Amino acid sequence: MAELRKDPVCDRWVIIAPERAERPSEPGRPPPAPPSGACPFCPGNERYTPHELLAYRSGDGPDGPGWQLRVFPNRYPALRVEGAIEREGMGLFDRMTGVGAHEVVVETPDHRRALGDLPSEEIARVLFAWRERLLDLRRDGRLSSAIVFKNQGYGAGATLGHAHSQLIALPRLPRELADELSGARRHYEQRERCLFCDILRQEGAAGERLIVQNGGCLSIAPFAPRVPFECWLLPARHHSSFEETPDGDLAEVADALRETLRRVDAALARPALNLVLHTAPLNPPAERNLPYWHWHLEVLPVTVRPGGFEWGSGFFINPTPPEEAAEFLRKVQI
Ligand SMILES: [Zn+2]
Ligand SMILES: [Zn+2]
Ligand SMILES: [Zn+2]
Repeated sequence: MAELRKDPVCDRWVIIAPERAERPSEPGRPPPAPPSGACPFCPGNERYTPHELLAYRSGDGPDGPGWQLRVFPNRYPALRVEGAIEREGMGLFDRMTGVGAHEVVVETPDHRRALGDLPSEEIARVLFAWRERLLDLRRDGRLSSAIVFKNQGYGAGATLGHAHSQLIALPRLPRELADELSGARRHYEQRERCLFCDILRQEGAAGERLIVQNGGCLSIAPFAPRVPFECWLLPARHHSSFEETPDGDLAEVADALRETLRRVDAALARPALNLVLHTAPLNPPAERNLPYWHWHLEVLPVTVRPGGFEWGSGFFINPTPPEEAAEFLRKVQI
C-alpha cells in the first residue's frame, strides 16, 4: 500500500508507491497484461484494463468496444480508494496511508490522434468526463483535492502513446495548489477582486501575451512562465470549481485549448508536453466556491529538463520571453 510522507523541513508531502515499481496491483484479479506491441487503450483491448468507471459509447455494454471515451482506474495506481486514512507520527516524522484515487481517461478510440488533433466537440467531451469524475470523487469527503493532468509524449513522462489524461485525487492539498490558493487569497483580501479575473482583464486589454481569445476563454503566455511557450487557459467567467462549470463555458475552453495545442504543435514541431488542471479543493464543501479562486489549465511544453539549479532553488531559467512566445504562437501557420 502506498503511503504519504511529509518532509519535516518544508512540509512537502511525497507519495511513496512501491506498487508502481512492482507493477501488478489490482485488488482481486488483475487484468491480464496485453501481448507485446498491443495497445491496451485501443478499442477491442478493453480486457487489458481494469473495469471502466465511465464511458461515452453508442454500442455494446461496459468494457466492450463502441466507445468514444473511456475512464478506468490506473492499472498501477499511485493511490487507491480502499481502506481508511491512518495517520501516524514516527518521532518527528509524519505519514499517512495513501488513500486517494488514480484514474485514466482514454480521450479517443483513435490511436493515432493527440488531444490537439481532435475536433473541438471531442475535446469538450474530455472536459465533460473530467467534470463527471470530479463530481463523483468529491462525494468522498476524505478527498480534499484532485489534479487532472496529461503527459503527452515520452519526453513528458508518458508510457503509452495513445491519447489519455489522468486524474489523481488526494487526501491532502498539494503544495503547488496550496501556494496558488494562498497567493490568490492575499490578492483578494487586499483588493476584493479575483486575481485571475484581474489577469483576464489586464491581459485581454494589453494583448502582448495573448495567444487565443474567444467569448468564453483566454489563452495567454503567463507574465512569469517557468518554461518556454508555457500557456495558461482561463475561463472568461469566474468559476472556482471546474466540476461546476456549465457545458457552454467548457465548450469554449475546449475550442481555445484546441487552437492553443495546435499552435504549440506548429511552433515547436509537436513537442512533448504536460497539461495540468488546477481547480478548487473538492472538500470540505465550503472550499468549493471561492470568490478568490479561478480554475485554469496550464500547458507546459517540454523543451528543457529541470536541472540542478531548478531543483536546488525552485527558480526556473527560461530563455524565451513570454511576449515573444505569444507573438510567435499568434502568427504561426496552423
Ligand atoms: Zn491505442
Ligand atoms: Zn475569477
Ligand atoms: Zn495553477
